[in-house]
Amino acid sequence: MIDFSAYIRTIADYPKAGIQFRDITTLLNDAQAFNAAIDTLALHYADIALDQVVAIEARGFIIGAALASKLGLGFVPVRKVGKLPADTLKQTYALEYGEDTLEVHQDALAAGARVLLVDDLIATGGTALAAISLIRQLGAEVRHAAFVIDLPDLGGVQHLQANGVQPFALCQFE
Ligand code: IMP
Repeated sequence: MIDFSAYIRTIADYPKAGIQFRDITTLLNDAQAFNAAIDTLALHYADIALDQVVAIEARGFIIGAALASKLGLGFVPVRKVGKLPADTLKQTYALEYGEDTLEVHQDALAAGARVLLVDDLIATGGTALAAISLIRQLGAEVRHAAFVIDLPDLGGVQHLQANGVQPFALCQFE
C-alpha cells in the first residue's frame, strides 16, 4: 500500500491551540493519490457483501461518495442537525467540550441492509459510534468502517471493535 500519510498536510493549532489538524485536502488535490485511496478502499471491501455506504458530514462525504460509486453501492448521508429535509432520526454524542447531534433520514436504510460506514478520520471513535447507533436504530447492520486516517493514540479503533465494527484506515498518525 502506498504511504498515504505523505499526501496529508498537518496544520498546527487548528481549529484551536494545541491541535494538530490532519488535512486531507492535499491528498484529494493529487489525482493519483485520491484515485489510489479510493481504489485501495474498494479493493479492501471487494469481497465483503455490502448494500450501502453511509458517510459522515462533511469530509466523509467526499471519500464515501467516491467509494460507493466505485463499489456500485447506494450512498446515505449522515449530517449535522437541521440539514436533512425529510423525517430524520437523531443521535446526540459527547465532544471534548459539549455535545453534537447527527441525523439520518428515517427511510434511508432498509432493515437488514449491510452498511459500510465511512469518514475521513477516526480519533476517539465518538462520531463513528453515533453514526453506528443511528444505522442500528434503523435496523440495518454495520460491521465495517473505513477511514483515511486513524489516530491510534485516541483509541477509536478499539471502541469500534468493542461494538462489533471492524475499522480499516489507509494510514495512521501517532
Ligand atoms: P472522533 O469522534 O473523536 O473519532 O473524531 C473524529 C471526527 O472528528 C471525524 O468526523 C473527523 O472529521 C473529525 N476530526 C478530528 N480530528 C481531525 C483532524 O485532525 N482532521 C480532520 N478531521 C478531524
